[in-house]
Amino acid sequence: MIYVHIPFCHHKCSYCAFFSVAGRREMDAYVEALCAEMRRRRAPERSVRTVYFGGGTPSRLGIALLQRLVEQLRALYDFSQLQEATIEANPEDLTTDFLRGLRSLNFFNRISIGIQSFADADLRAINRVHNGGQALEALQNAHEAGFTNVSIDLMMGLPGQSIDTWRRNLDCTGALLRGGLLTHLSCYELSIEPGTILERQLRQGRVELPDEETVAAEYELLMRWCHDVGMEQYEVSNFALPGLRSVHNSRYWRRVPYLGLGAGAHSFDGSHRRWNLADIAAYVAAAGDAPHEQETLSREDAFNEFVMTALRTTAGIDKSELSALFPWAASHISATIAPHIAHGLIVETDEAYVPSSSGLLQADAIAASLFL
Ligand code: SF4
Repeated sequence: MIYVHIPFCHHKCSYCAFFSVAGRREMDAYVEALCAEMRRRRAPERSVRTVYFGGGTPSRLGIALLQRLVEQLRALYDFSQLQEATIEANPEDLTTDFLRGLRSLNFFNRISIGIQSFADADLRAINRVHNGGQALEALQNAHEAGFTNVSIDLMMGLPGQSIDTWRRNLDCTGALLRGGLLTHLSCYELSIEPGTILERQLRQGRVELPDEETVAAEYELLMRWCHDVGMEQYEVSNFALPGLRSVHNSRYWRRVPYLGLGAGAHSFDGSHRRWNLADIAAYVAAAGDAPHEQETLSREDAFNEFVMTALRTTAGIDKSELSALFPWAASHISATIAPHIAHGLIVETDEAYVPSSSGLLQADAIAASLFL
C-alpha cells in the first residue's frame, strides 16, 4: 500500500490547510527526489495492492512526470495483484489530451476529482480555479477516455451556500450517476483552519457561513439522497455504488501498514507513525533521504486510533478484532459505550458496535468519549 504526495497546486484555495504550494517551481527536481525516496525505502509488501497519488494536485504534474514516477514504481514493485491505483485531479487539468495520456500509462484505474460544487458562486467563494461547466466537462472527458471508476469531492457549509444550492448539487450528481459518469462520492463539511485566507476573510466579516442548522440539514439531505439513489454510505464522508468503495482508504481505516512518499507524507508500519517534513526545498536537497520525524504508538494511542477510525465507518468496531488487538480493553469499552447504546447512537450486535445514522453524525465525539 503506497501513498505518493504531490504538493503542487494551480493556486491556493481560500480554505486550504493541506501541504501544497502554488506554482510549478521545483516540480522536476521534486519528482527526481521522489524517485530517489522510492528507491531508498520499501513498502510493507513487494506485491502492491493499492496506490494513491494525493495532494496538492497530482494532475498538475502532467503526463511526462507522472510517467517517470509510475516507471520508477514499476521497477521496484510487483503490480500484478494491483486492485486500485487512484490519482487525485482537479477539473481544470482533465483535458482530453491529459486523460488520453493518463490512460496510456496503463496504471491508474480510479480518478478522484476535486469538484467541491457545481455552482459557480460556491466555487468563487472558496477561490477554486474551475467553474461548474468545467467540472461537468472534466467528468465527461474522463468517461470518454474510458475511466469507469470516478469519485468526486463535494463540500457542505460553503460561504453563502443554501440548502437549495446543495440540493441542486445533489441533483446534478444524480444525473451524472445515472449517466454512468461517477461511482463514488466524498462529501466534507468546510472547516475553518487557522492561517487560511478564509479564516482571515471571516475575521474581517467579508464572508458569511451558513448556520449550523443549515449544514446539519445538508448532511441529512445527503444521507437520504444517497440511500434513494442506491449509494452506500461506508464512512462518515464517503459513499459508493455497491462494490465500488475505495479499497485504499478502507485499508487505511483498518490500520493496514503503508508507505508514504514525498514531502509531508505519512507512513505507518503497524507500530510507528513517520512523517516527512512538509518542506519541498529540504526534501529535494535530501535526494531520497527525506527529513522526517517518527513516533512509536503507545498501546493507548493505538487503541484510540482504532476506536476513532472504526466508529467513523459503518462497519463499526469489530468485536473479534478488538479482542485480538486489545484484549485488555474489553471492560473499558463495554462500560464507556453503554450510554451511547442507551441513546441509540450505537447498535450492539453479536459481532460489532455499529454507529446508527445519528451516531455517525457524532462519530468523533463518541470516539473521544471512549479514548484512554
Ligand atoms: S486544490 Fe486542494 S490542495 Fe490545492 S490549494 Fe485547493 S484545496 Fe488545497
